[in-house]
Formats: sequence, structure tokens, C-alpha cells
Amino acid sequence: MFERIIDAHIHLDMYTPDDQSAILRELEPSGVEALIAVSNNLASAWKNLQLGRDDSRVKPAIGFHPEQPLPSDEEVADLLALMENHRDEIAAVGEVGMPYYLRREGKAGDRGAYIDILEVFIRKAMELDLPVALHAIYDDAPIVCDLLEKHSVAKAHFHWFKGDWKTVDRMLGNGYFVSVTPDILYKEKTRELARKYPLGQMMVETDGPWPFDGVFAGKMTHPGMIRRSIAEVAVLRHLPVDDVFERLYDNTRWFYGV
Ligand SMILES: [Zn+2]
Repeated sequence: MFERIIDAHIHLDMYTPDDQSAILRELEPSGVEALIAVSNNLASAWKNLQLGRDDSRVKPAIGFHPEQPLPSDEEVADLLALMENHRDEIAAVGEVGMPYYLRREGKAGDRGAYIDILEVFIRKAMELDLPVALHAIYDDAPIVCDLLEKHSVAKAHFHWFKGDWKTVDRMLGNGYFVSVTPDILYKEKTRELARKYPLGQMMVETDGPWPFDGVFAGKMTHPGMIRRSIAEVAVLRHLPVDDVFERLYDNTRWFYGV
């Protein structure tokens, strides 16, 4: 049985220290080999770097989550310096992208400023030869595709992707990756994406501590939940579950170089 898992997108720093310890303790019995620990901002990046030093299965990514007010110039400069100075400790630039939910609430301010900051991070990722972990959904995704194409980015990961099929075609044609969360068990859109997107460009994630519904309602989000997601991908693709485990694991290892 091939049952090895990598959680391709988790906010490990957002769990309490007790929950972090419990998760790390339970990785091995859950078959989880590594976590791509994305960062929300500078403080979050420092925490993830530390988590990565304490436990080599934690692979930090450094970025600025777009669903928050714009960072100061100083914070952006500090984040860029951190990426550069800790290049060998990090797996990616992320989480970066565009503020869809904030904009929907009318709180995102200047859309152009978010695009400019994203472009700065994309340039840095290319300079440091790092993959990019993206939060870019619905009508933000084509804008992000424009930027990625402009800078010839090969390794782009649209985590928990939601959007139109035209953009999906563009993304898969460009070789970009997507990842599915445990909502694949109950969200039709996620199930559709998992049926149609090339399996060779797919990964699995929790986006923890973000909570899930259905069979996961009321439970702390745990990388072990990915086991159920993979089984569901296998059902939707009519493939042996072992093959899907192996494929998604290999994809993630290749994509993040872990
Ligand atoms: Zn996230």
C-alpha cells in the first residue's frame, strides 16, 4: 500500500502550540511526510521558519496573504530580505495573490497596489528559483495568469482553486498546479475540478486551521484528513487509490522540491 501524503498548503503557525505539537506527533501515524507551511505576513514567516528548524518535516514558505490590508513598504522589504537570506530553508514564495473576499466586502482598497505587490513577490520567486503558492480565485485568477505569463513562471500553485473553466484551461495549458481541500467530499465545484484537472498537476492540502463541514464538521483541521480527500479523488477519477496516493505525492515532491 502506498499511503504517503504531503499537505501542500497549511497555516501551521496559526494553530496553538499545543495543537502544533499534536499535529506533528500524529503526522507519522497519519502517513503525512511533510507540510508546506505557508505564511501570512512577516511575523507568521518567522514562526514558520522556526517551526521548520524545530522539525524538518515542516517546509516553510514566505509570503504575504492578500486577504488583509496592504503591507507597509517596510514589511514588503523585510519579507523580500527574509526570502533571500533564508533561501535554503524555504520551499516557496507564498501565500501571495489577490484579495477576492476582502474586495467583495469593499475593504480591499486599491486593486492595482495588490497587483504591484504580487508582481514584486513573483519577481523575487523567479530570481530565487522558487515556486509560488497562490491565493487567486474567480476573476482574480486571469489577472494572476497575466502576471505569471509576463514573468514566464513555470511553477505556480493555485491553492484551493475556484474559478471559471476558461481560466482552468489556461492554467492547465500553462502547466500550473492546483490543490484540493477536504471539501472535495461535499463541494460539487471541487469535485468537478478534481474530475477534470490533469492528475499530474494536482496536489492535496488542508489550508488548516480553516475548518471543514460534512464528515469533518466540528473537528480541528488535521493533515490526516487528506487521506479521505485522496480516496475521493480516486473514486472521481475511477483510479486505484494507491495510484492516486503515489501520483499526488510525487507531484508535490517535484513541485516543492521536498
Ligand atoms: Zn491559505
